[in-house]
This record gives sequence, structure tokens and C-alpha cells, in this order.
Amino acid sequence: MPQPTVIWWVRRDFRLRDNPALVAAGHAGSVLPVFVLDDALWAPAGPARRAFLAGCLEDLQRSTNGALVVCHGDPTSELAALARSTGAAAVYAAADFGPYGRRRDDAVAAALEAGQVELRWVGSSYAVDPGSVVKGDGTAFKVFTPFSRAWAAHGWDRPFPGPVGIGWADGPEGKGIPEAPAHDAELPTAGEEAGLRRWDRFRDGALLDYDKRRDSPAGEHTSRMSAYLKWGCVHPRTLLADLDVARKGDAAFRAELCWREFYADVLWHQPGSARRALQPQMAGMALDSGPLADAHFQAWSQGRTGFPIVDAGMRQLLAEGWMHNRVRMIAASFLVKDLHLDWTRGARWFMDHLVDGDLASNSHGWQWVAGTGTDAAPYFRVFNPTTQGQKFDPDGDYVRRYVPELRAVAGKAVHEPWAQPLLAGGYPERIVDHKEEREEALARYQAVRR
Ligand SMILES: Cc1cc2nc3c(=O)[nH]c(=O)nc-3n(C[C@H](O)[C@H](O)[C@H](O)COP(=O)(O)OP(=O)(O)OC[C@H]3O[C@@H](n4cnc5c(N)ncnc54)[C@H](O)[C@@H]3O)c2cc1C
Repeated sequence: MPQPTVIWWVRRDFRLRDNPALVAAGHAGSVLPVFVLDDALWAPAGPARRAFLAGCLEDLQRSTNGALVVCHGDPTSELAALARSTGAAAVYAAADFGPYGRRRDDAVAAALEAGQVELRWVGSSYAVDPGSVVKGDGTAFKVFTPFSRAWAAHGWDRPFPGPVGIGWADGPEGKGIPEAPAHDAELPTAGEEAGLRRWDRFRDGALLDYDKRRDSPAGEHTSRMSAYLKWGCVHPRTLLADLDVARKGDAAFRAELCWREFYADVLWHQPGSARRALQPQMAGMALDSGPLADAHFQAWSQGRTGFPIVDAGMRQLLAEGWMHNRVRMIAASFLVKDLHLDWTRGARWFMDHLVDGDLASNSHGWQWVAGTGTDAAPYFRVFNPTTQGQKFDPDGDYVRRYVPELRAVAGKAVHEPWAQPLLAGGYPERIVDHKEEREEALARYQAVRR
């Protein structure tokens, strides 16, 4: 008897291994993998993320022996039409917990139901689905540490077996994989194999000292798995199963994976927090606008503030579509507390340029720094970009890698303001005085508290 056709709707799960939605689809029939290129997500993605996504599509097309169908348009009408034309019995997909994804998925489910096709949700891009871990009184966690304890106690599945015996269905001609847009960033290789290779290398190397070295941006001390996790080329379950949390490096790494899950959980409970301060009184903070503020934003975004660690980070973002976590914090703090600009402006720039740009982690990373979010750093804790640079890039190697004007400055002197104009050709003078702007930031904070 011929197998029924079922659709596997690929969204953020570009992999064949450890993929429960694909396993379930494979048990139900011949699988037609479908990706719908939705303008609502493609348009704001920025060149680096679009190029990485195009690479993920190519990788999946190869690993499914060309079965992947890529449609362009509104997922509601595209999937309903495809289910009709292929006679698909059901559609399988991993659940999405973001604000746009939830609205889209409700609409798709209703359209499919009208055609008597069931949409079955299996798994998600998280080890523990957002919304599943709550406090004893049933409300959401607002603080990371208790969330992380409850998350670990909740636990997660072992990785699901690989794609054994999947029969791929023949589908209609799709519209094809979109052209990777022109971009200058040097991006990681997209796809499942590349993600797993990167994980193996990190697990067998830098993971051991991750707890001690993860804050040093100069070397390769972190996993750089973020883009693979964002697109589901590798699932966090696969990483968690490899960890032995009796070792400090592994325990520190698991905590970082948990931050990703915590922020997704916060966003699930409070979808408005993607763009609005979680702490309502902080929304009243006085912010700068006008031509000088615009010039400051321009200098920040191009890595020309005259603060070497900030500039190195912002130039790393332009060069690689990625920035080290410690430097993301320093650069974000500089925008909010030294330039007094709205965090959402910086968050948008990050989303335009990050290959790992993820609404939950980005918005809440920014809110943490800006002191407006759940479990945020208190607003009065203002990073000093010079001492942060000296502490986390003590030899100056990170700055010299991304700021060529400062390559002639030796050692940690690269962070000293006096050394820069004397020794460096063409490097800008500092656009603000950190000490004064810190006082200004604290005064504005006191004003909203009152
Ligand atoms: C202002 C700001 C914006 C950020 N925007 C994003 C974003 O858009 N997308 C994104 O994936 N991460 C974001 N982060 C979190 C973090 O900077 C990146 O996940 C990390 O730098 C990715 O590098 P890695 O894979 O080498 O991390 P590793 O140190 O190897 O960590 C392993 C994984 O844990 C997760 N993780 C680590 N730190 C965090 C964190 N603080 N919050 C949430 N998840 C974390 C990531 O999935 C990461 O890949 C942001 C942080 C800040 C301060």
C-alpha cells in the first residue's frame, strides 16, 4: 500500500538528527520537507542572517536528496495550497514560541483545519518548552537563578535518533532557494554538518576551561554555536547530552544554554517585552534624540567612538555578523548609559547585523544591560569601557585585531586614552567623557525612580 504523504514544515529546525517532528512525520508517511520564505521574517533579517539561512536551505536540500520544497509567500495560503495539491494527510512542525510565530501558527492551523488537514506540533527549539517551568504558585519566573534550578529539575529528553529510514516524498517544483544577498561579513558555514563539527571541536577543546576563559574575547574560548542553535542546525538537547556538569566548564556552559531558554520563557509570558521595557517605570527614562544623538549612533554603529573595546566589538559585528558576549554587554551599555540612546535602537542594529539574531535573546540581552528587564543588572551599575577593556582584553589583542589604526600600540596601552592620539594614525578621539556621562546616566535614573 502506498504511504500517505505528510508535510514536514521546516522553520527553525534545519537538521535531520535529534528532530522529533521529523521522526513523527517519518512514522506517519512519506515526508515532504517544506520551507516557506515569509517576507515578514525575511525582510527584516539583515544580509548576514539571510545568507546563513540560504546556506541552511542548501544544506537541507542536499541532505534530503533534493526533496526540500521552498515556497515564497504567506505560510497560511502556501501551506493550505500545498497540502491540497499533494493530498497531504497532516503537517508536522516544531512549535514556535515567539510573538509573530504564535500568531502565524494559529492562522496556519485554522486554514489547514478548514481543509481537514491536521497540524501536529512536535518539540520546539528548546530543551524545555517556554511556559513549561513555573513557580509553585503557577506564575512565571522573573529571576534567572530559581528558573535555572526549576529548569534543571524539569529535565529534558535524550536526543532523538537520527533520520533512519525516512522516505522522502516527491513534491511540486518550489520557487527555489533565494540568492544569498551580497554582504561583507565572514560567516560560519551553515547547516547541520558544520554545526556538529563545530560542537565536536569545542566540546573536545575549549569546553574544559569555558568557566575560566569565556569572558576573554581575544581567543576562541566560546562555542560559537549561537547561529546553529538559532536556526536549529543543532538542537540544545544534543549539546546537553554531551555535558558532564560535575566539571566546571560544562556546568558554566549549561548555565549559558539556560539563559537562552530563560529569555524565551520570559518572552513567551510577556510578548510585548520584545520591544518595550519590562519595568514600566523605566520607560519614562529621558533619552537623547536629534542630530547629535544621531551622530553618536552613527559613530557607535561604525565602531568610531574612540573607546577601543566598544569599537572593536562593533567592527567585529560588521566583519563577522557576530560579537563576543562580554563585548556585546560593553557595547550595549555604552549606547544606553554613555550615549543615553534608547536600547531598542541598538537592539535593532544588532538584529540587522547578527547572524545569530534572535528576538528573545537579543531584546532581553539589551534589557538586561539597560536595566529595564527581568533580572536586569541594576541601572546604577555602569560599565566603564576603559577598565572593562583592560580587564577582559588585558594584552589588547582583541582590539588590535579589529581596529587596525591601533595596531602600532603595544600591549594593554591600547586601552589608554593618552596612548591613542600619540601613537595611532586616524583613530577617532573619544566622542564623550565617560565620567561625565556616567553622572548624567545616574541623574536620569534617579529622576525616573522619583
Ligand atoms: C546585548 C546583547 C544581545 C544579544 N543578542 C543575542 C542574539 O540575538 N542571539 C543570541 O543567540 N544571543 C544573543 N546574546 C547572548 C550572547 O551574547 C550570545 O548567545 C553569545 O555571544 C553567542 O556566542 P557563543 O555561541 O560562542 O556563546 P557560548 O558562550 O558558547 O554559549 C553557548 C550558547 O548559550 C547561549 N547563550 C550564551 N550566552 C547567552 C546569553 N547571555 N543570553 C542568551 N543565550 C546565551 C547561546 O545560544 C550560545 O550559543 C546577546 C547578548 C547581549 C548582551
